[in-house]
Amino acid sequence: MARAWYVSQIYPSPDVCVRQLNTTISWFLWKDDIFRVPLSTLYRSKEEGGWDLTNLPAKSHALLLYRMRQQVIKQGTITSAWMRTWGLNVKGANPPFRDVIPENLEYLRRFAMDSAYVDEQGPMEPKRAYKRRVYNTLYHLCRGETGIQDMRITKIWTTTDWNTVWKNIHGTPVSGGTKVVWYKVIHDILPTNVRLRKIRISPTDECNNCGMHDKIQHRLIECGEGPQIWQWTTQKLAFILRTSLHSCRQINTNYTKQ
Ligand SMILES: [Zn+2]
Repeated sequence: MARAWYVSQIYPSPDVCVRQLNTTISWFLWKDDIFRVPLSTLYRSKEEGGWDLTNLPAKSHALLLYRMRQQVIKQGTITSAWMRTWGLNVKGANPPFRDVIPENLEYLRRFAMDSAYVDEQGPMEPKRAYKRRVYNTLYHLCRGETGIQDMRITKIWTTTDWNTVWKNIHGTPVSGGTKVVWYKVIHDILPTNVRLRKIRISPTDECNNCGMHDKIQHRLIECGEGPQIWQWTTQKLAFILRTSLHSCRQINTNYTKQ
């Protein structure tokens, strides 16, 4: 990635390269998983249910914009003179005047577009904060282009306090691998046989372990050590909530029914 970031400062990244890199990142994260959480969700902040994953197009645009702004400040260079010719030495008008620049100079049009939304570095603003601001603005622009989609699970479980769910998952002191499994369970993307059969990948919807219907509830609370773990969790929950075992079972049953 270091090489990609370096080149992004000099050349605008072609869409095809961004797509290829995104595919590689997605493959690295999910390997051969059939059901994946989309990258657009992982780009969100942890409070919003994402992983704070770097948005590749936004970062490559931000790197280029930062470098070009540094270049234009320098007097007497070819780049500086060239950018002044197109009036790119000052923050562009908003809405952007990209059409003034010929179509074949796509690189400069992109810069004019992005630049119109990002204020220049403030006199007291540290370099790092400025770079972060450029990235954040361009990231929000990228998000705006595709619109912010509601997550599938937030549509299904409309009354859940999702901020608390995300806070709990990211704040728990367990390994990254465990968090990924929890994340998949919460997003309801475990490839159970019931699900695989629906898309004709598995010949059966039965559990490989016991032959019952292999649904997510079955894996969590019915199969193998599931019942003991669930029983233990229920007891702990009842203890924490200072309530009876019966009312805790009620909560569990309601959860699994949905
Ligand atoms: Zn089973």
